[in-house]
Amino acid sequence: DRPIGVLALQGDFREHLAMFGELGVEAVSVRRPEDLERVAGLVIPGGESTVMDKLSRLFGLAGPLKAAVASGLPVYGTCAGLIMLADTVRDAIDGQQTIGGFDVVVRRNAFGSQLDSFETDLDVPVLGDEPVHAVFIRAPVVETVGEGVTVLSALDDGRIVAVEQGNLLGTSFHPEITGETRFHEYFVEKVRARV
Ligand code: GLN
Repeated sequence: DRPIGVLALQGDFREHLAMFGELGVEAVSVRRPEDLERVAGLVIPGGESTVMDKLSRLFGLAGPLKAAVASGLPVYGTCAGLIMLADTVRDAIDGQQTIGGFDVVVRRNAFGSQLDSFETDLDVPVLGDEPVHAVFIRAPVVETVGEGVTVLSALDDGRIVAVEQGNLLGTSFHPEITGETRFHEYFVEKVRARV
């Protein structure tokens, strides 16, 4: 079995690697195009999407990442990672680009400076009855979803915070830092279903 990759340019990639370790699933850091070729799936972590975008272009990864998404590689983005996967980003900084592929419009830092971070319990039916304890840190929200996108979870006010489309999975929040393993398990199933 090929390992799952975690994009390790910037952000909380260590937490994702640790999460897969906890699940007994082999995971490796992805920093170069060669690394990408040997993984069965990829996680794009939380962090800062503007920096991740710049580094991915600097390291020659932007093109290979686009090609990987287009080829059907399963990819899970958390927070900044979800921004990286979005076709359209609102409140992007000048010149910010994304890998794209996810037919969603995402707004960066959607909760504003009054509410930089917060925690809440979310219903995520696809993961079972037990709610997901979610941590949001300068988090994006999904403002619009295209036809092929499934909404996996929304806040009580209706704002969408977890989505899936074909090979792509995205959350506005960070399961990797709360010990919530079910999103990673769900993603591992997605990877194995493809292989
Ligand atoms: N605000 C960050 C961005 O725009 C995302 C924050 C996060 O990943 N926790 O990339």
